[in-house]
Amino acid sequence: MVPLSRRGFLGSAAAGALAAPTVPAWLRLASPVAIASANGVKAVELAVQRMNEGWRPVDAAVAGVELVENDPEDDSVGIGGLPNEDGVVELDACVMDGPSGLGGAVAALQNIKNPAQVALKIMRHTDHVLLVGDGALRFARAHGFTEENLLTEKSRKKWLEWREKRSSIDDWISPEENGEHGKEWFRKFKHKTGTIHLGAVAANGDVGSCTTTSGLAFKLAGRVGDSPLLGCGNYCDNDVGTGGGTGRGEACILANGGSFIVHQMSLGRSPTDACMDAVKRVVRLTKVKRLLDAKGRPDFQIQFYATNKAGQFGAAAMFADRFAVCDGSGARLADMACHYDEPVK
Ligand code: ASP
Repeated sequence: MVPLSRRGFLGSAAAGALAAPTVPAWLRLASPVAIASANGVKAVELAVQRMNEGWRPVDAAVAGVELVENDPEDDSVGIGGLPNEDGVVELDACVMDGPSGLGGAVAALQNIKNPAQVALKIMRHTDHVLLVGDGALRFARAHGFTEENLLTEKSRKKWLEWREKRSSIDDWISPEENGEHGKEWFRKFKHKTGTIHLGAVAANGDVGSCTTTSGLAFKLAGRVGDSPLLGCGNYCDNDVGTGGGTGRGEACILANGGSFIVHQMSLGRSPTDACMDAVKRVVRLTKVKRLLDAKGRPDFQIQFYATNKAGQFGAAAMFADRFAVCDGSGARLADMACHYDEPVK
């Protein structure tokens, strides 16, 4: 039998249209690979270290993002995350495990700083995929998670400042403002975004992934974004790879970002191309004027990340941005492909 090189394997996957790429057992990657949003350089490094120690990709991904969840200085994830409009921190997260095809998720969870760990427990200790709000908190308590106040002084002051100055700038809007043919929205609420997504590929080609966030700052209470929704802010398929997103969650939900990226890769698209396909899908689906700038372009940032079983990775964003990656060459930041080659306003 003629040995199949990785290049040959990828080429035949691209030519084979619907056939999802599979890695033969003998084709091991030189190193595990992890990709994340730009706040995840330490997270991807730890995830790769854990996979080198034999951890499953999903567990390695959760260990990585936990560093960011535990960092009170990152105001988009875990403790120190910016609160909702009532001043309450509500966290969202989901995990997905390639080999078993199982996933777990938690949304609008209060008082527990590591929602990704709770999502793992939901995946392993229930027959469900998603728990929300009070039920999720009770489940976390049952599993011994410690409750704490997640609102740091710094985040409380930022919330108070927004509260005092917000006037009519919030997420409540009228049907007229939301209309496809309505006027350009004059009271735009520019959300601060953050979040960490981490996609992981072990040396044997198994994949796992995780996304965790405090969601959009000052969101309506109970608002759930893309991060805890499998197929949106996070998805993986052990025959293909991982896909996830950060940025404006509503756009990622409406485009089904994560599953769309994985589907594109199953058709032979590279990780970067699949991510750019998702960005273009968001552009095409964004029609209401209040979401467009004066040039008719989406007026928000969205970032997508992908890996495939062959250890290739890529990322693309609406506006110029960076992402974190770790492979055999170590952990680093790299430029994403971008649809509009300028920084987000
Ligand atoms: N995607 C997250 C959400 O919409 C926010 C973010 O990534 O900044 O909840």
